[in-house]
Amino acid sequence: MNVGNDNTAASGEGRLFILSAPSGAGKTTLCRALMEYSKDMHYSVSYTTREPRKGEKDGIDYHFISKDYFEKQIDAGTWAEWAEVHGNYYGTSAVFLDEAVASGNDILLDIDVEGAKQIIGRYPDSIAIFIMPPSLDILRFRMESRGADSKEVIERRMTNAEKEISQRSIYKHVIVNDNLPKAVEELISIVGMYRKRRKA
Ligand code: 5GP
Repeated sequence: MNVGNDNTAASGEGRLFILSAPSGAGKTTLCRALMEYSKDMHYSVSYTTREPRKGEKDGIDYHFISKDYFEKQIDAGTWAEWAEVHGNYYGTSAVFLDEAVASGNDILLDIDVEGAKQIIGRYPDSIAIFIMPPSLDILRFRMESRGADSKEVIERRMTNAEKEISQRSIYKHVIVNDNLPKAVEELISIVGMYRKRRKA
């Protein structure tokens, strides 16, 4: 898709754009499309204790760290938010966010609902966007046809998905991903609206 961009010179405080979705709702694709469109948007690389998946690179997809180190950083107050998701820890560096916001950079955070609540509490101007799957049946079908996870993992993710969907009202915007190009367009238009408002 060639739709230009919404790049803007850094001025004033940066904005935080939070994207959450149950696994299988297409969030990774949407995040990539947004980063491709908004080339000057910075991506917040999370810290996690889960094992890297095939093709994932340390420092790019995640900062992969040990459980022991993660827990020490909880005590040290390193995380702007953190949560345990599917049995692993995930967290966002407070120093990274504070510095990015202060230098006027817009940041994209791909985090779960628990993390989103903490970021909204800490940075009330954050723009939180929730991606909804068209239905729970379709979500299950997508996870099963991906073939990447065991039955048990899929069940755990489905329970988690229902819980996350029930909390979608904390988000400023909800996008139903029943058609990927349309969902990409909607996401780009929401983010563009906030970024243009600041430029004006
Ligand atoms: P995955 O392991 O599949 O990459 O991510 C699992 C879940 O963890 C996703 O819902 C993702 O949004 C969430 N996640 C990734 N990074 C963070 C983070 O820094 N904080 C929180 N709270 N959740 C995260």
